[in-house]
Amino acid sequence: MFSSPLRTLFLLLLALAPATVPGTLEAQAVVLVPEAVWDGLDDAPVPGVAVRVEGERIAAVGPRTEVDGGATVLELPGLILTPGLIEGHSHLLLHPYDETPWTDQVLLESLAERTARAVVHAEATLLAGVTTARDLGSEGAGYADAGIKDAIEKGVIPGPRLLVTTRALVATGSYNPKGAPEFTFPKGAEVADGVDDLIRVTRDQIGRGADWIKIYADYRWGLDGSARPTYTEAELALVVEIAASSGRHVVAHASTAEGMRRATEAGVRTIEHGDGGTDEVFALMARRGVAFCPTIAAGDAISQYNGWRKGTDPEPARVAAKRASVARALAAGVHMCFGGDVGVYPHGDNVRELELMVDYGMTDLDVARAATSGNARILDIDTDVGTIQAGKLADLIALPSDPTVDVSAFRGVSFVMKGGTVYRRP
Ligand SMILES: [Zn+2]
Repeated sequence: MFSSPLRTLFLLLLALAPATVPGTLEAQAVVLVPEAVWDGLDDAPVPGVAVRVEGERIAAVGPRTEVDGGATVLELPGLILTPGLIEGHSHLLLHPYDETPWTDQVLLESLAERTARAVVHAEATLLAGVTTARDLGSEGAGYADAGIKDAIEKGVIPGPRLLVTTRALVATGSYNPKGAPEFTFPKGAEVADGVDDLIRVTRDQIGRGADWIKIYADYRWGLDGSARPTYTEAELALVVEIAASSGRHVVAHASTAEGMRRATEAGVRTIEHGDGGTDEVFALMARRGVAFCPTIAAGDAISQYNGWRKGTDPEPARVAAKRASVARALAAGVHMCFGGDVGVYPHGDNVRELELMVDYGMTDLDVARAATSGNARILDIDTDVGTIQAGKLADLIALPSDPTVDVSAFRGVSFVMKGGTVYRRP
């Protein structure tokens, strides 16, 4: 490729490149020395533990004197080191509905504007300590989520690791935007029905970059505008079968008990929203190992956009129903996913959902686990992320206090490392 002197110069330049540029130096060792380490599993942080990072992965975890040989030491005094947060339900291509209603975002904002916003959202998300996010639908922005993911992976823009779904699947006639019936409006997701169409569209989304397949098992298309099931159980099961054939999981949007039941029987891995979940359907989900992302923060935000003065007014019916459904899910022993539907409210404020999960009945420790090791298992990425253990990717954040006793500690993220690269320092 190069003549010999040029090659020597190239290698010299490579050696002088800044350590923060991924891939330019092989396995440079850094040892992080915080006040304590919470590994994503334990009951509490452990003091006196240091973490050695080589390249993009954690090489060792232990007493400083045992792991710091030959490494650059990065002191994080007074801080608790934890795994990076794993957001289970984001929409990087949406921004808060009190700024612009969802319909106007889908119909009036250009793809360029929406993508530009997503770039800003991705950075805000990472700097808030979210090092992985499952992004559940571009909502009319095509395959821009897959492009954003590529740009992050190539180091063009900062952002979390992304699991994307591209356009998501909706049944004919069910999804928005809608208007005068003689006009056909662009939809916030891709319409597909029946055997041939569902097989083709599921495979097409896979081919265009979907890591997960998202399907709307119900939507607000009942006679009175209430949520009602859309797809038949057979249609849902077919999509699960097609996705599984390629090694992918399916996530279902479902708010009704019947939509949740069909999705669970069909074999989806997670169910989103679940406002109308009954004891029976949550028991079924628990038996089948289907996880639940309650998206508490979305309904909480929308209720406030609609005029609810939180803390002053009584809780509106929507909020009360959510509180009751989360209580039923917890009583049934369903795996709880941290996924807030962020985008409805500001990107970077992901911790809102964690605080609400505690408010709705979970312990801080269980919520902190859900946001790290729990979501890693649910999203089937636990071989790489979710805990602080040798061999895992070095996705590490530091906080001023212990999140296992108060998850609001995650609001104080002052250090963010993703894949061994530092994006934020105290
Ligand atoms: Zn959503």
